Amino acid sequence: MYEVYALKYGERDTPACQFFYRETSHEPVTLHYFVWLVTGGPRPVLVDVGFREDDAAQRHIRNYVPPSAMVERAGVKPSDIPLVLVTHLHYDHWAGHSLFPSAEFWVQKDEVAFWTGPWGRYDAFRSAANVGSLSSLVTLNYERRIRIVDGDVEVMPGLRLYRVGGHTAGLQIVTVDTPRGRLVLTSDASHFYRNIERRQPVQIITSLPDMLAAFERIDELAGRERLVVTGHDPEVAERFKVVEPGIIRLA
Ligand SMILES: [Zn+2]
Repeated sequence: MYEVYALKYGERDTPACQFFYRETSHEPVTLHYFVWLVTGGPRPVLVDVGFREDDAAQRHIRNYVPPSAMVERAGVKPSDIPLVLVTHLHYDHWAGHSLFPSAEFWVQKDEVAFWTGPWGRYDAFRSAANVGSLSSLVTLNYERRIRIVDGDVEVMPGLRLYRVGGHTAGLQIVTVDTPRGRLVLTSDASHFYRNIERRQPVQIITSLPDMLAAFERIDELAGRERLVVTGHDPEVAERFKVVEPGIIRLA
């Protein structure tokens, strides 16, 4: 039976207008930064890797703890993580890959193509990139540590990923079947509960229709149990159970 944890490794305040489509308010909202750990299956699986000290300093992140330290605190040695599902390649989900030296990283084909393709040169996209970590896609691939997937995949029984796009070209979300129902880790398909619940996407997008369709997909996958875990919302700690500071038990 799977156990699933959200592990918080940092916080940042930012104006609301950045995270809600056509929002005019500059009131601050607080983002929490997470990686998600799935244990209890044949082998532990991590969803995303977070970032390292350099991004934390440059991007004014509060209360930064290396994501690998949070994984260790949750009971798994970072070097014992064999598999990471990478929801997308923004710095806060990918730049910390070297913290997990034994892992194979699963990422969507469209996501790799996007960040190694023609749009990377534009500030609109590169501000969310850690360029060094994107260049390691090539070396890691030749070390057989990148698995490029295309579309929806069953990772192991009861653990699946779905390509939804929208926020980034090949964004994927993850579902885990639990005794209470199917848990949906939306990552940045919905940064906050407000994004999905009011159908008000974030401003950071590659396709607005895909982003809206992703909300429909999440609702469909979540079903009646509504076990939805959004990507950066401090409210995750209220909707699920905090077991110790920074560690939230989701299932
Ligand atoms: Zn993010």
